[in-house]
Amino acid sequence: MKVLHHNRVNELLTIEKPNVIPFARRMVDLGTETAFEVLAKARQLEAQGRTIVHLEIGEPDFNTPAHIVEAAVSSLRSGATHYGPSAGLPETRAAIARYVVETRGVDVNADWVVVTPGAKPIMFFTILALIDPGDEVIYPNPGFPIYESVVRFVGGRPVPIRLRESRDFGLDVDELSSLVTGRTKLIIINSPHNPTGGVLASETLRAIARLAMERDCYILADEIYSQIVYDGAFESILHANPEVRDRVILLDGMSKTFAMTGWRLGWGVMPPELARAVARLQTNSNSCTATFSQQVIEPALFGPRDDIKGMLSEFHRRRDTIVGALNAIPGIRCRCPAGAFYVFPNISELGLTSQQAATRLLDEAGVATLSGTSFGSFGEGFLRLSYANSMENIMEGVNRIGRWAKGL
Ligand code: PLP
Repeated sequence: MKVLHHNRVNELLTIEKPNVIPFARRMVDLGTETAFEVLAKARQLEAQGRTIVHLEIGEPDFNTPAHIVEAAVSSLRSGATHYGPSAGLPETRAAIARYVVETRGVDVNADWVVVTPGAKPIMFFTILALIDPGDEVIYPNPGFPIYESVVRFVGGRPVPIRLRESRDFGLDVDELSSLVTGRTKLIIINSPHNPTGGVLASETLRAIARLAMERDCYILADEIYSQIVYDGAFESILHANPEVRDRVILLDGMSKTFAMTGWRLGWGVMPPELARAVARLQTNSNSCTATFSQQVIEPALFGPRDDIKGMLSEFHRRRDTIVGALNAIPGIRCRCPAGAFYVFPNISELGLTSQQAATRLLDEAGVATLSGTSFGSFGEGFLRLSYANSMENIMEGVNRIGRWAKGL
């Protein structure tokens, strides 16, 4: 038994060394984010002299606006080099609460906010705090792979809701309702959505809010791409129905909109009793978010927005270009996404699985993309391309894809 479990963990974690003392059984259930693995393989090919076009990684190719960098430097110079409270600095929590009142139109204060190193820990902590073994969690598929990974890790039952291309990757509320059972504790939504760029319609958000209130579930609303929308204004589940506030864990942060992925600054907004539980998980893991990083919140959220506006209009231009260029390739069709910086083209007519297409594109054409199945089984037939790259690189990548597809 011990050997069996040992082998399985080793196999999953690709540990080749024999006689490693077995890792904990729970490691078998922990998934990963393929983007980092593809990036590593692409870098290896580059080290061998190949030129690779990177359309795999989901981070802005812009630098953090200068006034935010300056704020961090002066914060460090003035001695912000110490621990802070686990839930976040009081002034940072208050500024985030003010931002959420302004951007989501809902009444919250600093007690509702927990500041974390990037927004990702909010997923991890929320699921750890809420989900017992056997509890069910509904999550989007295709969707960000960490949702399913963490639910499994804690012994919960992940229940996928399929996002269909024919609905512009929105979700079917009747289908969602049919998946809710007496054991459903949490519904995860993500709008704008990674990997499809889809945005949930107002009536869908309203129906999800109603469902959560009627069936007594929490909603984890991953709104990390909230400011990256192209057609109309962003709508939060909290706009759709402010009464759902006590059931919602709002996840957002600085990584995407403010080009601050490496700063690790994110937050969750949730009922204060849950915020205290999440802060305790932080005490047990990270202790707190870096103090100097937290001290840029005020100038970042309420300072000049020119750089951000420039970045967003560039993403808009790139979206239109990449969608047009992909649709011109025989065998590929691509919906025009309403948000985020990803496209999710359908490649099923090429006669390859998504994984085969992604692997061959990297090996044969030198274009790094992600298989749709990196985001769950319903991603079969699709690839994810990030257009957080220069227009020149995007066009080089799409031209390479076109030539490669022609030669299949
Ligand atoms: N949520 C989604 C849907 C994401 O795509 C990402 C990052 O890729 C995150 C959350 C995490 O963001 P952060 O870098 O702030 O941890």
